[in-house]
Amino acid sequence: MSRKDFIDKDIDRRVAQINISSASTEPTGLPVSTGSAGSFTSVGSVGSVGSMSSIGSNKHTSSPLSRPVKPSYSHEGLPNSAIDYCVPNDMNDRYNENPDDTVPTLPYQPKPIRNQSHSRAFSTPLNTRPASPYTLNPPIDADGLSWPSIGARKRIDSTPEEAVQRQKKIEDAIRTILIELGEDVNREGLIRTPERYAKAMLFFTKGYEDNIKDVINQAVFEEDHDEMVMVKDIQIYSLCEHHLVPFYGKVHIGYIPNKRVLGLSKLARLAEMYARRFQVQERLTKQIALALSQILHPRGVAVVIEATHMCMVSRGIQKTGAVTCTSCMLGCFRSQQKTRDEFLALLNRNASI
Ligand SMILES: [Zn+2]
Repeated sequence: MSRKDFIDKDIDRRVAQINISSASTEPTGLPVSTGSAGSFTSVGSVGSVGSMSSIGSNKHTSSPLSRPVKPSYSHEGLPNSAIDYCVPNDMNDRYNENPDDTVPTLPYQPKPIRNQSHSRAFSTPLNTRPASPYTLNPPIDADGLSWPSIGARKRIDSTPEEAVQRQKKIEDAIRTILIELGEDVNREGLIRTPERYAKAMLFFTKGYEDNIKDVINQAVFEEDHDEMVMVKDIQIYSLCEHHLVPFYGKVHIGYIPNKRVLGLSKLARLAEMYARRFQVQERLTKQIALALSQILHPRGVAVVIEATHMCMVSRGIQKTGAVTCTSCMLGCFRSQQKTRDEFLALLNRNASI
């Protein structure tokens, strides 16, 4: 079969698949609501994540014929419409192959384009997440603070005198709490506790002062590597924003580069930056994944966090030993079961070193 025949046949097959896909999705073609596809709250439910249904409503599949994609490669002698649906060069790549013929294959999607306006460039990182408050705002904003809280800028910009004033205010508040709890704040053991606690809280929340550009510190390297990179067991300590008590555990980060890699220690720094803020585990997971996808424009990002929440084990339901597991899968980790399985297999493998 000549290449032209092959391409013609492929176009027919894809158009047929697109028709099937369009018929089975929302007629409006609008992004689906936030939903939980692509992430799971326990490892056991992994089989159901990343289904093609959410991707089926992506604008590229809902109206591909009316929005032809400008190809970045050329095929001489072919009409434009054929070029738009040519098989991209990396179609047979292990992370793009789709062994299941019953699932429609996505048409060629362009790589993320830089210098787009924020709302468009960050609306769906890696074109795989439906719109949500996490995706509608840029993971890394103009000043690099990345989802700063309302007083973060003031805290960073405070003068030494203002910083002392801030700590004194926190100390006073702690003293009030101790008094209201029935303690004697003047006894020897407690007399300096407000000061110690204020300093500790400023440390626990030091992530508000971190700037992602300093955290990354130019450690993005051009590297011809397209295999999975994974760093496991990054220890984190964070504070539950609902109870202001710690949760702690391990972050596992994997990604598949697209010619760009990040210095390995920066993955841990990224996790540390977001963990040292008031958090919920679900948001922490997403923030790490979305920031990494924005920094590297990789082909996929996977983040899994396993953590123990003190508000759960030492109060309330008091289930000691309960571990909460959250994940965020982007790009090929979301769309390709094989890639996700490879990540989870590496995750469950006990290191021999
Ligand atoms: Zn809590």
